[in-house]
Amino acid sequence: MVKQTIQIFARVKPTVRKQQQGIYSIDEDEKLTHSLEIVLPRDLADGFVNNKRESYKFKFQRIFDQEAKQEIIFEIIAKPVAESTLAGYNGTIFAYGQTGSGKTFTITGGAERYSDRGIIPRTLSYIFEQLQKDSSKIYTTHISYLEIYNECGYDLLDPRHEASKLEDLPKVTILEDPDQNIHLKNLSLHQATTEEEALNLLFLGDTNRMIAETPMNQASTRSHCIFTVHLSSKEPGSATVRHVKLHLVDLAGSERVSKTGVGGLLLTEAKYINLSLHYLEQVIIALSEKHRTHIPYRNSMMTSVLRDSLGGNCMTTMIATLSLEKRNIDESISTCRFAQRVALIKNEAILNEEIDPRLMIVRLQKEIEDLKAELAMATGEQRTEALTEAELLQLEKLIASYLEDQDPESRLEVGADMRKIHHCFHHFKKLLNDKKTLENTVSSESTRQACQEPLRDEEYTKLLGLLKQRDNEINILVNMS
Ligand code: ADP
Ligand code: MG
Repeated sequence: MVKQTIQIFARVKPTVRKQQQGIYSIDEDEKLTHSLEIVLPRDLADGFVNNKRESYKFKFQRIFDQEAKQEIIFEIIAKPVAESTLAGYNGTIFAYGQTGSGKTFTITGGAERYSDRGIIPRTLSYIFEQLQKDSSKIYTTHISYLEIYNECGYDLLDPRHEASKLEDLPKVTILEDPDQNIHLKNLSLHQATTEEEALNLLFLGDTNRMIAETPMNQASTRSHCIFTVHLSSKEPGSATVRHVKLHLVDLAGSERVSKTGVGGLLLTEAKYINLSLHYLEQVIIALSEKHRTHIPYRNSMMTSVLRDSLGGNCMTTMIATLSLEKRNIDESISTCRFAQRVALIKNEAILNEEIDPRLMIVRLQKEIEDLKAELAMATGEQRTEALTEAELLQLEKLIASYLEDQDPESRLEVGADMRKIHHCFHHFKKLLNDKKTLENTVSSESTRQACQEPLRDEEYTKLLGLLKQRDNEINILVNMS
């Protein structure tokens, strides 16, 4: 078991205008923790954030400034999570921040340049590379891609997505089993045997990601997207299997409802986002308080789906994406505050191993057979009913492969069943007798041939002639070559 608090990282999005400098600074202390200081510009300080304070300081595991490339984000943040997934632990990486702060850029990446690939494609590439290197296990990889919008779940990999409206698709719903494990109904799992297949699924899901025109931003602003890699592994011959999940999560924009400022449908959407992120916040607060026993996971679909990632069996990492421009200071401060809460949550990740029931049944059946035989031997109580056709066939196959086996150490294992042992002896006797008869006929045959009269003269000359002719032919061929 690995006990670990949720790791928090921050990434500052490049600003368009250079004069925004001076709003923040990044420091590193002796313990290598980074801290971000946000300094309020004077005109903002008297008013809407908090007029008593002029600067705020937040600690993070590490802070990536504007120039940080996708490569380093993967190396420092995502690679360790992917490594623990391969080692058998669940993992989650989620990006949290206001719209436009770089969540999608960080999780999925930009489409323009290859070097802009984000965490998902780089993680897939890394995982498949590692799986290929490891021939000691049999791996299977499946992908699912879930979108949560207005508290409803949609399968982004549903093939009907393109053909029908979102509302017409079957909704993904949550089922809870008696052990309180969450199962998602109507969420399809797609096997991916190569990196390319997995990338195609990512692309398909992103294409299906809902687009609704709004004055503020794309629709992805108001929905949460959870890309999940389901990895199973098993050693050949072993009945133990590992099932691990890696969630890569692009959350909805964390901005407050007042900013949207649009009526009708948009306001409902914005309210919903706030509602589901509000429930996320409540879960985080409950988890970070020591003596809380009830954690309100069930209040929203997102917190139910991510229950294990938050305070459960998972190694979880949060990336706070910040857009540190003057007009976004208040949102950035609330993103950092949220991150500080998240950093208090302790998770306990366990190795996700279980026994494959089918393999276990085969193993147990064999054990029962062996025990029955041993018992019969010990009690002296022998079974009297005749061996069945199938048993006899099985036994003869065993004898055949035993006789063929050149290894002098090989053994004929028929268990402690006297019926089978007798049958083996009987079979050996038969084989021995058959062999003797065969030898007798062969020797009498050769005696008979030896007694045949010698070749007649004319036959002898004929053969000699033939021999000469062949000899000549060979000589000609030798000369030619
Ligand atoms: P979000 O998903 O949080 O709403 P996006 O990831 O869509 O934000 O980012 C908004 C815009 O900023 C996009 O055009 C994106 O390409 C760009 N962007 C975000 N972060 C970076 C970065 N670190 N480097 C370069 N461009 C970025
Ligand atoms: Mg986005």
